[in-house]
Amino acid sequence: MGKPTGFLEYPRELPLVQPPAERIHNWLEFHEHADEDKLRIQGARCMDCGVPFCHTGSLIEGMAAGCPINNLIPEWNDLVYRGLWREALERLHKTNNFPEFTGRVCPAPCEGSCVLGINEPPVTIKSIECAIVDKGFEEGWIVPEPPAVRTGKKVAVVGSGPAGLAAAAQLNRAGHWVTVFERADRIGGLLMYGIPNMKLDKRIVQRRVDLLKAEGIAFVTNCEVGKDYPVDKLRKLFDAIILCGGATKPRDLPIEGRQLGGIHFAMEFLHANTKSLLDSNHADGAFISAKGKDVIVIGGGDTGTDCVGTAMRHGCKSLVQFEILPMPPLTRDPDNPWPQWPKVYKLDYGQEEAAAIFGKDPREYLIQTKKFVGDGSGHVKELHTIRVEWVKDNGRTIPREIPGTERVFPAQLVLLALGFLGPENQLLDQLGVEKDPRSNAKAEHGKFATNVPGVFAAGDMRRGQSLVVWAINEGRGAARECDRYLMGDTQLP
Ligand SMILES: Cc1cc2nc3c(=O)[nH]c(=O)nc-3n(C[C@H](O)[C@H](O)[C@H](O)COP(=O)(O)OP(=O)(O)OC[C@H]3O[C@@H](n4cnc5c(N)ncnc54)[C@H](O)[C@@H]3O)c2cc1C
Ligand code: SF4
Repeated sequence: MGKPTGFLEYPRELPLVQPPAERIHNWLEFHEHADEDKLRIQGARCMDCGVPFCHTGSLIEGMAAGCPINNLIPEWNDLVYRGLWREALERLHKTNNFPEFTGRVCPAPCEGSCVLGINEPPVTIKSIECAIVDKGFEEGWIVPEPPAVRTGKKVAVVGSGPAGLAAAAQLNRAGHWVTVFERADRIGGLLMYGIPNMKLDKRIVQRRVDLLKAEGIAFVTNCEVGKDYPVDKLRKLFDAIILCGGATKPRDLPIEGRQLGGIHFAMEFLHANTKSLLDSNHADGAFISAKGKDVIVIGGGDTGTDCVGTAMRHGCKSLVQFEILPMPPLTRDPDNPWPQWPKVYKLDYGQEEAAAIFGKDPREYLIQTKKFVGDGSGHVKELHTIRVEWVKDNGRTIPREIPGTERVFPAQLVLLALGFLGPENQLLDQLGVEKDPRSNAKAEHGKFATNVPGVFAAGDMRRGQSLVVWAINEGRGAARECDRYLMGDTQLP
């Protein structure tokens, strides 16, 4: 511990961000880099506690507390404070294959569990993580490291999101020949086509994919396993298979008027936007535009926030985001103590941008959509809503409508961001993989083996829609168990 009194001397300071009203005019990442001296001071705030929780990755009452991949946080905070960046990078890569992704998009459960966070703002763990890996790339310290020896075993990874990429990286490191199959035209899963460019620049995703290629991993795009590539062939040509197909089935809102034009799932909107941006800087017009429209985003989660940020960049006329739950408290509730993930009110980047242009947080809480109404030519014109309150009903808490609170909102574009219902079934059914009661691939966390010998499942396809950091945790774990299956033993962590 380089600076025993750092936490007493220095306040928390995050890197600057571009002002919301400016950044909505481009698609670039909006976080700026703090200079090295400032980052070292932030590293010095780490107390190197005797019993740190930031790296535990345990579940407390179903919620993650600490880093799910057990990043060695106090160690690299200290190394950064001492200016030993290269050593910090080595320590970071021991547990995390892709810190440049988590350092940008992770909601940082580590910071929610930081011991300093009990009575002071926590250490800025996520931005230090990002700075370490960004410096590693800038300095040229991160280079392809192909394995010295090949085992001759072949593994197929289906799906190229963070789970598939982490599994591929680890298995390749163990010397197996790995082929990643992806049905989209670009590699990266939701890193590429879910999370928008201003949160995670796609050049950063591609840079890591290029490194993995240079290390010997083969990537096949535009290839849906089970449709373009038969599963029998996959079973015959590969010694093991890791399924990382994500949880891509969106939750619908089957109410009156749902069939009207202008109502889209969030992922249709986000995927097309990024693809068009990357293909032609939007010149091909092959995206759903929010320009000049009254936009309603239904769903208050992260996917909804990304729709808000994207619609703001298109130049929407107005924007409202519906959330059926109440507004979270400003500080932790007594039943949500440290070191649990703090369930508190947060103005995320999209809402901050909408507030900067339209004058207020765009979220409407405790609101339910009753029907969509058309303009007479098949296109949505307005949404009819009602307020709800949450009440106890036979031990369950359910929303109850409040009569007299009906409202009408104008909308020419409605984006449904209501969460996901699990993986698509086709591939699992063709392989004969059993599903759990939530329709995810059934495989125990830690073992990752499905009921079909040699077939493993990881990431959202196994746990349901979650986080990038959990996908990395699962991809690494599935690789370890797959290596054990192939070789009888494993050195992978
Ligand atoms: C809009 C949005 C924003 C998000 N933002 C964040 C965030 O800021 N931070 C965070 O931590 N998490 C975020 N998440 C969640 C996070 O992106 C996911 O939990 C994570 O990407 C899951 O990784 P995965 O590898 O399991 O699956 P995915 O990333 O979903 O990748 C699965 C891939 O498998 C491919 N595939 C499926 N079936 C087949 C097949 N049969 N053949 C070939 N390919 C196939 C799909 O095309 C896809 O590319 C977000 C999610 C969404 C939807
Ligand atoms: S991966 Fe996420 S939880 Fe882990 S140290 Fe980084 S920001 Fe924190």
